Amino acid sequence: GKTKSADSKICVLGNPGVGKSALVVRFLTNRFIWEYDPTLERVYRHQTLLDEEPTLMEILDTAGYDDSIHQEGNIRWAEGYILVYAINDRLSFEAVATLKQHLDQVKKTSVQCVLVGNKVDLLHERRVTTDEGELLAQEMACAFFETSASDGGEDIPELFYELHRDIKRRKMAE
Ligand code: GDP
Ligand code: MG
Repeated sequence: GKTKSADSKICVLGNPGVGKSALVVRFLTNRFIWEYDPTLERVYRHQTLLDEEPTLMEILDTAGYDDSIHQEGNIRWAEGYILVYAINDRLSFEAVATLKQHLDQVKKTSVQCVLVGNKVDLLHERRVTTDEGELLAQEMACAFFETSASDGGEDIPELFYELHRDIKRRKMAE
């Protein structure tokens, strides 16, 4: 039969190694996979009952090819973005602000996103404060989560669902 179209299309972006795949896999399976093929890029279809509604989310775990045409295709495809940095990687944090500007340019609108500071289990290596994360999220007008894909990550489903709800809200308003 005909495949149902997704209620939300979510793209996970961020520098290589920040834990994008680990977050996606944790969300989908509630497991932490220590080594995940860093070159693998794929779309996951996730079906669930959310807010009492059958919901189909599509999640694109990007692999950060240098090919900008390819990346632009990913950006155009998506309706919302999970922007990930690692709290022990200053460069990955700085990359997020640039990335958001790029997304807005490509989509010709202020895109919907959530900001995620991953690897909070590595507290002793912290290079980005919680305040800095919050401030950047304010500037981007989006929700902010600090989390760890390796340590429990109880709040990981919420960051995906929050973005899904935002996407739905904007679609309804259109
Ligand atoms: P990606 O390139 O952004 O997809 O990053 P991966 O998900 O492949 O993760 C890169 C590396 O960081 C792997 O060695 C993971 O085991 C590790 N990693 C991912 N998330 C966490 C986390 O929350 N805490 C710690 N300590 N390591 C993590
Ligand atoms: Mg990956």
